[in-house]
Amino acid sequence: MSDTSFDYSLDERQRTMLEAMGIKLWLPDHEAAPSLAPTPTADPQAAVETVQKPVTAENLEPKQPLAGIESAQRAIKNIVFAEQILEPTPTALALSPRPAGIEQMDWPALQSAVSGCQACGLCQSRKNTVFGVGQAPADSAHAPQVDWLIVGEAPGENEDAQGEPFVGQAGKLLDNMLAAMRVGENGKGLSRSQGVYIANVLKCRPPANRNPSPEEVAMCEPYLARQIELLRPKIILAMGKFAISTLTGSNDPVGKLRGRVHTLKHASLQLPVIVTYHPAYLLRNLPDKAKAWADLLLAMQTYRELSNPNEQASLHTDR
Ligand code: SF4
Repeated sequence: MSDTSFDYSLDERQRTMLEAMGIKLWLPDHEAAPSLAPTPTADPQAAVETVQKPVTAENLEPKQPLAGIESAQRAIKNIVFAEQILEPTPTALALSPRPAGIEQMDWPALQSAVSGCQACGLCQSRKNTVFGVGQAPADSAHAPQVDWLIVGEAPGENEDAQGEPFVGQAGKLLDNMLAAMRVGENGKGLSRSQGVYIANVLKCRPPANRNPSPEEVAMCEPYLARQIELLRPKIILAMGKFAISTLTGSNDPVGKLRGRVHTLKHASLQLPVIVTYHPAYLLRNLPDKAKAWADLLLAMQTYRELSNPNEQASLHTDR
């Protein structure tokens, strides 16, 4: 079996991120070095145990101190592909018709269509539309070339004011989570300006941060669908209930849908979707931060399998 293990060593930035997520690290008293890297061993089970021990999270349930890592590993071994197909859905009454031909638009035309959109009532209370943010495109006529697409729900007050997704405390937490995902160039962490694009299902803020209506989601969804077509990411991380239901087609709670790989079928694309909690939710629900970390591990492993077909073949052969 080829080497399929993660590098679990954490640098200072990742430790800061884990602390920000409320995840405390356990290290043996005698272990001065902060590395969590597993010791090479010929025994696969021993390797798993070596990996798991140092990552105990203080806020995990007492009888399942390693649940975060274990659930990610179980999920990797039992990948379940739940398929969602993005199709046009019934739409709400438009104040002004949604622009025609979204599915043919290039990136600049799509940006322009969103910024002028009045297809649902949210246009009346928004300050700014929030198209998305991420790595700069190679040229202004094309979408950025990114491997990762992060999809959130809808702009909040800060996002509406600044016209950018995931700002404020939730944005800082997302940035820390991305930085801890060392799947960028040369093993670097991700950032919103490198290898990643971040968008929401809704491009306009629902007043008072209320939940978006199904009609509003349906009206706005074609913009996200076209963003996905143009970005052609390798993997999608869906954060929060509305992003997850849009991309998986399931209204089950996040807790039921996380821990496995879903597949989004759209146009000619088949993309893996990993679901997890929204950073704003995590700021209010500390115990679920360990689960979110496990979701990120699953996302990283899935991405590595996609990027390294030999590793993928080996993983599946050896199961
Ligand atoms: S939320 Fe979407 S569909 Fe509604 S006005 Fe904004 S861009 Fe248009």
